[in-house]
Amino acid sequence: MKIGIDLGGSHIGVGIIQGGNIEDTMDKNFTEEDRKDIQVTIINSIQNLMDQILNKHQLSLQDVEKIGIASPGTIENGTIIHAGNLGISYFNIIERLQEIYTMPIQIRNDGKCAAIAEKQYGAMKDYEDCVFINIGTGIGGAVFLGGKLLEPKRNSGFEIGHMVIQKNGNLCTCGKRGCFETYASIKALKTKIMHTLGIKEKDISGQYLREVLMVQYHDALQKDIEEYLDNLTIGISNLIDIFEPEVICLGGSFSYYEGNPVLEQLREKIKMPNTTFNNEDIKIVTADLKNNAGIIGATL
Ligand SMILES: [Zn+2]
Repeated sequence: MKIGIDLGGSHIGVGIIQGGNIEDTMDKNFTEEDRKDIQVTIINSIQNLMDQILNKHQLSLQDVEKIGIASPGTIENGTIIHAGNLGISYFNIIERLQEIYTMPIQIRNDGKCAAIAEKQYGAMKDYEDCVFINIGTGIGGAVFLGGKLLEPKRNSGFEIGHMVIQKNGNLCTCGKRGCFETYASIKALKTKIMHTLGIKEKDISGQYLREVLMVQYHDALQKDIEEYLDNLTIGISNLIDIFEPEVICLGGSFSYYEGNPVLEQLREKIKMPNTTFNNEDIKIVTADLKNNAGIIGATL
């Protein structure tokens, strides 16, 4: 069996993974105190959670074939170069963990992990040419052609959230203007809708957002949704024209949109004449493994 670790902006999860299944997971949420020295917190949490979960299942370290970590941000050679949500720069997590553990340890960007898991066990398993789009706070992605994950030698590549869809558009966290994710992330949609409905809270849950979109009771909301989907369609149609995938798989928060009219509307928009170069009917599916994709993919 393998150990999968899901490192997020606000929590860490450790799971026992067998094939494409999660046998069990244990989590820890980061407190303000934990964040003061987040690198130490991460290493200690991994040790504690691994001890606990192995004990619970009467397993020992000898039973662990491999440890895989899914992390946000840019990863290179076992180092988290930059992870904004975690407030981490240049943290060689693999080196630190190999001082404690002898089995192989690997780390990959969480979006890529999710894509790999979906390709092997989830919604993309029956296709060779696929584009995976992780839509959440930002937008990430991965592309498979001929069944193979495309990976550049330098940098992570496939920063599809940062393709520009609007000249002189919204300022992005990356410093550029008009990036796809500033218009088409779930965060962008949430902000728009909270503004229209006059919701003053700092954040609303993904589930609440989906319920609002399900009902679409507000006339003004229709305009927001239309505009949001037009922008999402621009990005997706660009990807279709470049890669000609058999399927587009929507992950992240969007994995929960099957049955929501917003997804149906998106499918309709992409099918419209003159939206893509070849005007073909491309399958748009949602990710099967939902939130589990990252932790499963980390071990692959
Ligand atoms: Zn950007």
